[in-house]
Amino acid sequence: MIQEFVDVLVIGAGPSGCVSASYLHKNNVKVKVVEKTKFPRLVVGESLIPRVMDHFAEAELFESLDAMNFEKKLGARFIRGEEICVFDFSKKFGEGWDWTWQVPRADFDNTMAQEVVRKGIDLEFESEVLEVSFEGKKSKTIVKDKDGNLKEIHANFIVDSSGYGRVLPRLLDLDTPSQLDPHSSIFTHVKDINRPEGEEGTQISFDILETEVWLWVIPFSNGNTSLGVVGPTDFINSLSENKDNAEALRNAIQKSDYYIKRFKGTEFLFEPVKLENYSRAVKRMYGDGFALTGNSSEFLDPVFSSGVAFATESGMLAAKLYLKESQGIEVDWEVEFTEYMKRGIAVFTTYVKEWYTGNLQTLFFHQPENPDVKEKICSVLAGYVWNEENPFVKKHDHVIKNMAYLLNMQKEEKENQGS
Ligand code: FAD
Repeated sequence: MIQEFVDVLVIGAGPSGCVSASYLHKNNVKVKVVEKTKFPRLVVGESLIPRVMDHFAEAELFESLDAMNFEKKLGARFIRGEEICVFDFSKKFGEGWDWTWQVPRADFDNTMAQEVVRKGIDLEFESEVLEVSFEGKKSKTIVKDKDGNLKEIHANFIVDSSGYGRVLPRLLDLDTPSQLDPHSSIFTHVKDINRPEGEEGTQISFDILETEVWLWVIPFSNGNTSLGVVGPTDFINSLSENKDNAEALRNAIQKSDYYIKRFKGTEFLFEPVKLENYSRAVKRMYGDGFALTGNSSEFLDPVFSSGVAFATESGMLAAKLYLKESQGIEVDWEVEFTEYMKRGIAVFTTYVKEWYTGNLQTLFFHQPENPDVKEKICSVLAGYVWNEENPFVKKHDHVIKNMAYLLNMQKEEKENQGS
C-alpha cells in the first residue's frame, strides 16, 4: 500500500477544511486534504454572516472569493405577515465586517478548493477516508482514491472537517443527541424569472409562515435564487402526503403571502432535497492528535446562518492551536478550543431556541424599534458572539426572554386599556 507522511491531514474540503489547510500551509506546515467527492458538489448553507470574512482574509482566501462577484449580503430581512424587520450590518454594535456574501455553495466551495490547490496544497478529490487508528497522537488513515486504490496517510494531527460525513465522530463513537428540537428542511434553487429590480430582488429574506416554520429566499448574483422551508420535522413531513419533496416545497411557498406571486409555478432547477433532523452534537470536540471542526462537531440550525461561520472559526482555531503546539508551546485544548467554541455556540443556541419560542420574534417586530437593542442583536447576527462587551452576548441566557416578557406585558396592558 502507498504510504504518505504529512504534519496535518485535513478531512473534507468544505469551508472549514479549506480555511484550516490554507492557514496551516501559509505557516509552512505540510498539510494534505482528502475530499470524498468531486467538486463542484451540492451542499446547503448559502447565507453567510460577516464573521466569516475575518477567517477568509486571515487564511488568504478572500481575494479569490471576492473575484467571483457573489451577491453582497449587507444585512437580513425578516418578514411576518405585514411586519418587516431589516438588519443592516453597518449598524451593529462593536467592531467587525459589515458585509458578506450570499452564495451558491457549489461554486463558492469550488472556488475555495481550487485556490487551495493553486497555493500548492495537496488536495485529493474523490478520496474517501475509510479508517483511522491512533497511536498516541500519531495517526494512520486509510484512504480509498477514485480508482479504488488504498493508501495509508501518517499524520501528526488530523483536522476532521468532514461535515455530515462525521468521520471521527462515527469511528470514535463521539456523537451525542443535539439539545435542540428535531427540525428539518426542504430546499432547491429556481431561475428567478420574476425577480423585481433593485434591492427587493436581491435582498436575502426569511418569511415566517408560523412561529416555528419559515421560508428562506436567497437570491444569487447568477440570477438564480435558493428557496427552502424549515420547521419541526412533523410539520415538514405533513407538507406532502406522498412524501414528495417538490410538492411539499410548493405547498410551503403557497403559505407565503409575500412570495407566492414571485415563485408561483417557477420551475425547480433540481429535485428539492430534504434534510431531516439536521442538528448535530458531539461528546467532545478534540482528542489526542485530532480536532473536530465545522459540522463534523456541532450544527445548530440554519435560522441565523451561523453554520459556515462556526465551521471557519473552528477550522482556523484548530490550525492555530496545532501550530502553537508544534512550536513546543503547551495548549490546553479544553480551555482554548472547546470552551472558546462552546461560548459562541451557547449564544447562538439561545438565539435559536428563543426564535422558535417566539420571544426573539417579539423583539424583532416590536414597534417602535429600539435602535440600541437592534444594533446589539445585529452584532450577534453578524457572528460577533465572543464580544462580551455586548450585553446581548454576555447576558444571552436571560436578556431576550426578559425583554420579550416585558414587551408582551405592555402589549397586554394596552389591549386591556383599549377594551
Ligand atoms: P461541509 O461543507 O459539509 O464539507 C464537508 C466535506 O467533507 C464535504 O465536501 C464531504 O464530501 C467531505 N467528506 C465527508 N466524508 C468524508 C470522508 N469520509 N472522506 C473525505 N471527505 C469526506 N450555514 C450557513 O452558514 N448559512 C446557511 O444559510 C445555512 N443553511 C443551512 C440550511 C440547512 C437546512 C442545513 C442543514 C444547514 C445549513 N447551514 C448553513 C450549515 C452549513 O451547511 C454547514 O454548517 C457548513 O456547510 C459546514 O461546513 P463544513 O466545512 O464543516 O462541512
